[in-house]
Amino acid sequence: MRNFAHPFVAELRRVLQMDFPAEMPVYILSDIDVRSQMGPMFCHGPLGWTGSELDLALQSILQDAGMWEGRGFATIIKESVFLDQQPLHRHWLLMNVTFHEAGHFLTYPEPVDHAAEEEVDSSPTSSEDCSCKAPSPTLSRSQWAMIDHVLWASSRSRNPELSKKQRCHGPEFLRVQAHIHHRMAAAGVVAIEETLTCHVEPWTGFREYWTALGDEPSRLAHLSIREILNIDPPPAFAALSEADERRLSQLDQEAA
Ligand SMILES: [Zn+2]
Repeated sequence: MRNFAHPFVAELRRVLQMDFPAEMPVYILSDIDVRSQMGPMFCHGPLGWTGSELDLALQSILQDAGMWEGRGFATIIKESVFLDQQPLHRHWLLMNVTFHEAGHFLTYPEPVDHAAEEEVDSSPTSSEDCSCKAPSPTLSRSQWAMIDHVLWASSRSRNPELSKKQRCHGPEFLRVQAHIHHRMAAAGVVAIEETLTCHVEPWTGFREYWTALGDEPSRLAHLSIREILNIDPPPAFAALSEADERRLSQLDQEAA
């Protein structure tokens, strides 16, 4: 396994140090390194994956590589997509995919070390709506079931099959990304908004949500993002979110 991740791990810890402290293991893997274990699903689809238990799904691979340090944040970045980019541009794109996946991770429950980790439950513990059920030659179906979807190259598609994935990029995620964007800018890290947020219809755009947050990103910059998610958002943000939720449920009813 190449040492693909170190620049991104360091930046993640620097920018989001309260949510990704030194003691939390961070596994940022390249699809190029794990494709032989992960199978054909790497031929298409998202630019990155994460999941509430992706670390557990990858545990055996990480142990074989001598990288396993316990439960933490795991993501697989589709580096293969960016190989024809200029090195500096590729660096920033991959960095922003990493921060995108980190934002998903922060909406999941914090990972808990269970004594019987080897007896992984076959049911996803969270974000069931986002689970990816693609089979794999080496990972079990239950392991794949734990791997939540992430960044969709065709995120603007109106394909009704994407409706469950849309929920992964809704108001809570956009609130997290507004805070991440603010913290990246404050730390001097280039934020590529489209990659960082991945607009998915029919949600209102990131800019509108960001505006509705008002000064929250700077006002609450002393808190971890997980702590912020336990605080009600500003009324304007809540109103926008509720209007979007109503619209999404109407679309679901029409599709049913
Ligand atoms: Zn995503």
